[in-house]
Amino acid sequence: MSGHTEISIWGAGCAGLSLARYLSPHISSGEISAPIRVHGPLSPAATQCHIWGFWQTDWLSEPARLSKQSWQSWQIITPQGRVTQTSQTYPYHALDSAIWLQDCVARSKGKIAHRDDAPMPLDHQGAILDSRMPEIPENSLLQHFMGIEIKAPRPVFDASVLTLMDFRCDQSRGIHFIYLLPFSDDTALVESTLFSEQTEDKAFYRTAIERYLREVYQLEAYQILREETGCIPMNFLKPRDPSLLAIGANGGCVRPSSGYAFASIQKQAKWISQQLASGHVLDKIQTPHRRIDSWLDRVFLSVLKAHPEAAPEIFLSMAKALTGDELAKFMSGLAHLPIYVKLINAMPKRMFIKQILPAMRQKWQDR
Ligand SMILES: Cc1cc2nc3c(=O)[nH]c(=O)nc-3n(C[C@H](O)[C@H](O)[C@H](O)COP(=O)(O)OP(=O)(O)OC[C@H]3O[C@@H](n4cnc5c(N)ncnc54)[C@H](O)[C@@H]3O)c2cc1C
Repeated sequence: MSGHTEISIWGAGCAGLSLARYLSPHISSGEISAPIRVHGPLSPAATQCHIWGFWQTDWLSEPARLSKQSWQSWQIITPQGRVTQTSQTYPYHALDSAIWLQDCVARSKGKIAHRDDAPMPLDHQGAILDSRMPEIPENSLLQHFMGIEIKAPRPVFDASVLTLMDFRCDQSRGIHFIYLLPFSDDTALVESTLFSEQTEDKAFYRTAIERYLREVYQLEAYQILREETGCIPMNFLKPRDPSLLAIGANGGCVRPSSGYAFASIQKQAKWISQQLASGHVLDKIQTPHRRIDSWLDRVFLSVLKAHPEAAPEIFLSMAKALTGDELAKFMSGLAHLPIYVKLINAMPKRMFIKQILPAMRQKWQDR
């Protein structure tokens, strides 16, 4: 029996619908009897595909099963060098947002009501799980991108290895890299991604992609199958309404140093569903990231903001220092002491030490 009389989920996006999915079996089994409603219009990501990338871990078997493609090798490239990593235990998956969200809707149908209306306050025994986007503080570093899925007229891609970051592109507007997911030898998602405080005109990302495909793959003409854009805050955000139970990006699930959030959202949604199925009254949602990861993210962000020009070298050194399994574990919040030691050793010592104090000062100001 659930300890709440009513459960209301605000926001029908990744966090809200994933939570509805994980709650559904507990409704069928009778472990949860309180009425549950999702409020808000269905996210556009449920009808227009964009890709969620993640490293497979034990709590991600369902999204992994539905993923479009997976790879056991990935690479990071700079003008100075290239590191290719491999992991059989933690392959990288690309999941179509529409496939995942529609599957969540289908699995919760008949068990969880969905209303397009504005959310309503509940009585004091009800739980409100709020996934509305939090406010983004000024001067936040943003991860902004535009990508196109293309079909090339001839086989040019190596479909066995994806490119996490290729810095061989225009670095004049901020930290800039190309992310390339090869779905076959002639189809790929190619994204121009920046870490900076300002988004760019579409023409900037488009030119970067065109130039990259021309220079690296000698591709002048290709068919554009679809386009995706996004902007993810790389910052420590406060929940939109601290009196509610914040989930998803609003509940701190975005990893500030990378913009990755999908894995944390799934972990958090599973934890909440288990708590509710066990009859617990939720008065607090666990922060999805470990303290050490948040601390490292703070210092790392501070280094990136102060020295954007050093980013390609820093990412390459980090990749050189770790094995594929270790990088995947770090990115998934599963790192252990030897991985942290290797990572810290790979960073430029002076820059890193110099940013510890400013990062802690920022933490103090964020309180
Ligand atoms: C294009 C894109 C690509 C991404 N790629 C990756 C990736 O590869 N890997 C990764 O780990 N992460 C990725 N992310 C980051 C993260 O996984 C997503 O942002 C994820 O969708 C966050 O889930 P969420 O539920 O917190 O927010 P959302 O999915 O944005 O859902 C919030 C919902 O709240 C609704 N809402 C807002 N206000 C109200 C209101 N007043 N009333 C009711 N509803 C409201 C919105 O309409 C929306 O549907 C990506 C993000 C984007 C945008």
